[in-house]
Amino acid sequence: MKFCPMCKFHEPHKEFMSTSITTDGYSEFCRKCIEEYRSVMLCTKGKLSPSRDYSKDYYRKIKIRMNAINRRAKNLGSYGILTIYNLESSLYDAEYKCLRCESKEDLCVDHIIPLSKGGFNTEDNIQILCRRCNSSKSAKIKDYRKH
Ligand SMILES: [Zn+2]
Ligand SMILES: [Zn+2]
Repeated sequence: MKFCPMCKFHEPHKEFMSTSITTDGYSEFCRKCIEEYRSVMLCTKGKLSPSRDYSKDYYRKIKIRMNAINRRAKNLGSYGILTIYNLESSLYDAEYKCLRCESKEDLCVDHIIPLSKGGFNTEDNIQILCRRCNSSKSAKIKDYRKH
């Protein structure tokens, strides 16, 4: 059983996605929560402010990247702030793999329309790529997400 910090329930491991990002190999939040979060997001467009006591290690790890992304976006004057929930649901969609080569290592957030070209710093405009694919893509606009 694993604890989901969003719904505060202990659930069987099969209720989580498998990922190499976390130390235990499972997604931080359970599938239900991520799906529910997604549907709430669709209605409120980012107005959700969930409680904040999810597990610290994961949060710290992700937050470092998130802060860097948000800082960069702010410096470029881009619209939007990404939250850990935006990231988690994008990772969930990508099945915790690079959308281009399916690598599970060194995943990062790619802005589909680059911030430098006026892209928004929002969930609609991010996809999960590994560092290698991200750098080979450079400033080209290519959407690898499934629709
Ligand atoms: Zn949950
Ligand atoms: Zn890749």
